[in-house]
Amino acid sequence: MNENIFKRNELLAQKVIKGLESRNMTGYYAADKEEALEKALELIPMGSSVTMGGSMSANEIGLVNAVRNDDYRFIDRNAAPDRHAAELEAYDADVYLASANAITEDGILINIDGNANRVSCIAYGPKKVIFIVGMNKVCDDVDGAIKRARSVAAPINAQRFGLSTPCTNTGSCMNCKSPDTICCQFLITRFSKHPGRIHVILVNDNLGF
Ligand code: SF4
Repeated sequence: MNENIFKRNELLAQKVIKGLESRNMTGYYAADKEEALEKALELIPMGSSVTMGGSMSANEIGLVNAVRNDDYRFIDRNAAPDRHAAELEAYDADVYLASANAITEDGILINIDGNANRVSCIAYGPKKVIFIVGMNKVCDDVDGAIKRARSVAAPINAQRFGLSTPCTNTGSCMNCKSPDTICCQFLITRFSKHPGRIHVILVNDNLGF
């Protein structure tokens, strides 16, 4: 990565981390994917039950593969005979892995969801939530972050899942009420009531979308 971008990301990450701390959440900066993986594993005690809603970023740093072994109890909803039951089990997990659709420079997390299992687990349930967030997702403010979630993350996700939504065909949000829409629930995490629950690892890389 270009040295100037590296420096900008490191400085900006410090601002985000300060913002997170003011909101009772903990932030970390990782210089690359390897460092992010190391930090995430430090936060997950061996023997923990671990689950997730579908985070590309956690996959991209190798975290999902790393917790799929006998040292942890990985709850895999995609492999579960009853997906709904696995999603309900997630509320009682020790650790929930996630990414954010966007984060503001002052540490507010924005997430949009269709099914809502992901945003509801972020809001309440799992004892610890670990976010893996590439620096490409940092936005100026809440308006900018919601805009990013609607105009970048949601259309790409809709395309990824082959959904029948306007953005799948146009690449931009048409504010639809299609039965397939994934923009059903909007979660703005501006403060955590539970100290030590939410951890955000900011990664000096472009992760997810
Ligand atoms: S509201 Fe509809 S068109 Fe807009 S991003 Fe969401 S699914 Fe796509």
